Amino acid sequence: MIANVLVIIRKRSRTVIGAALLSCCFMAPQAVRAADCPGNPNALGTSRTLVVDPIEHPRIGTMQYPETLPLADHEVVLTFDDGPLPKYSNQVLAILASQCVKATFFTIGSQARFNPEGVRKLIAAGHTVGTHSQNHPLTMNKMPLEKVKQEVDDGIASTLAALNGDKSKLAPFFRIPGLMRAEIPEAYLASQGIQVWSADFPADDWRHVSPQRVYDLAIQRIEAKHKGILLLHDIQPRTVAALPRILNTLKERGYRIVHVVPATADRPATPTEPQQWFMHPPTETVAITRWSKIPNFVFTATRTLPAPVFADMDWRDADILDHAQRSRIAGPVRTLWPQPQLAQLAAVSTLPIPASDVFRVPEALDLTLLATRSAASRRIAQRPTIAPGAVAPRAQAISARQARHPKQAAHQAPAAAHGRAHAAPRPVAQPNESNASVRVANLKKRTPRAEASAAASKRVPD
Ligand SMILES: [Zn+2]
Repeated sequence: MIANVLVIIRKRSRTVIGAALLSCCFMAPQAVRAADCPGNPNALGTSRTLVVDPIEHPRIGTMQYPETLPLADHEVVLTFDDGPLPKYSNQVLAILASQCVKATFFTIGSQARFNPEGVRKLIAAGHTVGTHSQNHPLTMNKMPLEKVKQEVDDGIASTLAALNGDKSKLAPFFRIPGLMRAEIPEAYLASQGIQVWSADFPADDWRHVSPQRVYDLAIQRIEAKHKGILLLHDIQPRTVAALPRILNTLKERGYRIVHVVPATADRPATPTEPQQWFMHPPTETVAITRWSKIPNFVFTATRTLPAPVFADMDWRDADILDHAQRSRIAGPVRTLWPQPQLAQLAAVSTLPIPASDVFRVPEALDLTLLATRSAASRRIAQRPTIAPGAVAPRAQAISARQARHPKQAAHQAPAAAHGRAHAAPRPVAQPNESNASVRVANLKKRTPRAEASAAASKRVPD
């Protein structure tokens, strides 16, 4: 008896679905005004149907692409992925029907094979059906073209099989699983005239979060942008639990649901302006958007340029470095270590242990270091007892500074000796600074005392 009643109810519901189907779907898709929603005068309803041309706009959704659907303020498009799965997809369908809203479903081919009736229910209820691959791989961004083709084509074939091969019922819309976009799948889908749908905001309903969290995220993210494509999943219990509240809140806050269908020969795309396909179209109030993005280059008559030679690219070249320094251009740091060649780096995985003589300090340099240290320590020791104007500390100071900055010291005029320690520095003849070895030699030979006398003898007369 109970079973008979259930059968009658099911038959009646099918009749209702069939009637709805004829009235709103297979003919021209029309908006279902809230007031016209059977049994729910306060329904959210579907405010309008947007017809889009996948070839003109091959990729949409600001989560990944510059363009999105040309929605007005407070317009939202609902999308559901990964179904059909009877247990939850049917509940989602019932919730949408209760509010008379139309959505877009991206079905998985393998799900459609297992549940072809689920695909037919989506179509019967007047929703748009696109596809979402055959097996939902999360690696489409790494797939070769052949594998991409297989996933896309099989997913479409499986969904079409549920629709008895009627291509007019399947929209050329595709959402890449996991939104793992890449050029190969995008190019292939575009070549097939299939529009790639990303989204403008998810609600994280695939994560292990509560229905309350799904609701909060959906509303917060919609409110942040005021319009766009909401990404949901019709296989999740938390989505089923959150969806009624999401729809009620959208209604309360003045949002409207837009149903999207593909353009066909009989159904031209909704006229739009190019800027409508951007979430934040450029306006006259934002100055920078009025600048053209591509500068107008003026080309000379010369059509060829000399090919660069390898030496031009070698920044270790002394001339380039000097030029960069003169021009105050920050050149690369000049390293004293030999530069390894790429081929060497690639060829060897280990390096030999350095020989012990690599660390041996040359005898001449040893002497220089000793002289420098001795000059510095003597200056410290003598400082309290030296009378003003004395010669020796100044000469020693020069020596110590030369040891630290030999090049600067060589260009610096030595202080006057013999009671002229406070006189202004005077130019001296430039020492031979042609290379570093000369500087080292000078340092090596000059003890602090010799340094002082040399400084005195080089003094230029007034
Ligand atoms: Zn998915």
